[in-house]
Amino acid sequence: MRLIFMGPPGAGKGTQAKQVATRYDIPAISTGEIFRANVGAGTPLGLKAKEYMDRGDYVPSEITNQMVRDRIGEPDAEKGFLLDGYPRTLDQVHELDDMIKATGHQLDVALVITADRDELVARLLQRAQTEGRADDTEEVIRRRQEVYAEQTEPLISLYRERDLLIEVDGMGDIDEVTDRIMAALEAVNQS
Ligand code: AMP
Repeated sequence: MRLIFMGPPGAGKGTQAKQVATRYDIPAISTGEIFRANVGAGTPLGLKAKEYMDRGDYVPSEITNQMVRDRIGEPDAEKGFLLDGYPRTLDQVHELDDMIKATGHQLDVALVITADRDELVARLLQRAQTEGRADDTEEVIRRRQEVYAEQTEPLISLYRERDLLIEVDGMGDIDEVTDRIMAALEAVNQS
């Protein structure tokens, strides 16, 4: 399986990506997490990424694309992968197309987790208290929502046209949402 997960900030993408990847025994690759690890370790990549992340903006695609290219070239991604939070721009879609084509495979599913916008802000502010992420302040959350709407939402219709899109309602308990996602993926696998 080669899948991508999209969804507005706070929709539960990361949590669901981990659950689903475990069930398919493939790596969940989160660009946001790789950036955060680099910021934490103070690497040159982290230093570059931080200024964008702190504002709620996307890190430039040249940086992000190369990072994903390297990561999916690792041995554990040979049997498949779940990309959490990539691609997020049209440019990244084309890059990913190239990367996957080079391996002789194809993308199986683009899954989008949908959620109510105001509920998302509440969830993220809650997460700020438990996880302490630097970009979970109300101002930065609003900016991340704007950037998502402008740059990432258009990808939904693109993947719909390619007949790869699955939309899943992300409201409710974590397990309930995972069950919904698994049911939708199984339905695709059987068709
Ligand atoms: P996330 O953990 O997916 O919410 O990502 C956190 C932050 O990392 C985003 O707000 C961006 O600044 C950056 N980021 C993650 N993925 C990407 C991407 N595909 N393209 C550009 N920036 C990204």
